[in-house]
Amino acid sequence: MRIGIDFDNTIAGYDALFAALAEERGLFQNARHSAPHGVLLGAPVGKKDLRDALRQRPEGELTWRRLQAEAYGGRMSDAELLDGVDRFVKACRQAGISLSIVSHKTQHANFASDGTDLRKAAIRWMEEHGFFDPAGLKFRPDDVFFADTRAAKVAKISDLNCNWFIDDLEEVFAEPGFPASARAVLYDPHGDVEAGSSGATDFLRCRHWDEIGGHVFGSHH
Ligand SMILES: [Mg+2]
Repeated sequence: MRIGIDFDNTIAGYDALFAALAEERGLFQNARHSAPHGVLLGAPVGKKDLRDALRQRPEGELTWRRLQAEAYGGRMSDAELLDGVDRFVKACRQAGISLSIVSHKTQHANFASDGTDLRKAAIRWMEEHGFFDPAGLKFRPDDVFFADTRAAKVAKISDLNCNWFIDDLEEVFAEPGFPASARAVLYDPHGDVEAGSSGATDFLRCRHWDEIGGHVFGSHH
């Protein structure tokens, strides 16, 4: 049995990092000053709410893409290992289940890139979190795949014969070529993915990694 796992926002969490970057850049000072009754409004919590708030502004899409280039690049080391990932990986190791990480990640950011190699930044982050530690999460370097496009990502998931695939984007499950034989699990910690927005239909929705473990290891019957 093999389980495939997405990387960004499924293994590595960026909510606190995006909030910190928005704060450092003073992106929400105006919201503070104009808040009624002296209520302090900080940056929205959560990647999606922050993105939606920025996109309402002139040049907001560009601002958002620049923040992403930083978060996934030079500031990657400030991303956090999402709660429960390590428990899940260790349980899989104990059960003899193979794990692959399959990420849609280009080598360089398209916008405002500081030249950081995004894939190397991700690998370095995994090293720092014990992913390749034989006494830790026990990944081998060739268990990690980066794809330039979403189509290439689902082709890799198919090649690997994944029995399960876990991702925070339901668009991945709707992508032509996503293998029908793979059980799709949507990692949706904020419960903010709108059902059916991508056309994907048959997937499990989980808000926590322990819940995913419950499905994979069969305690949710
Ligand atoms: Mg993702």
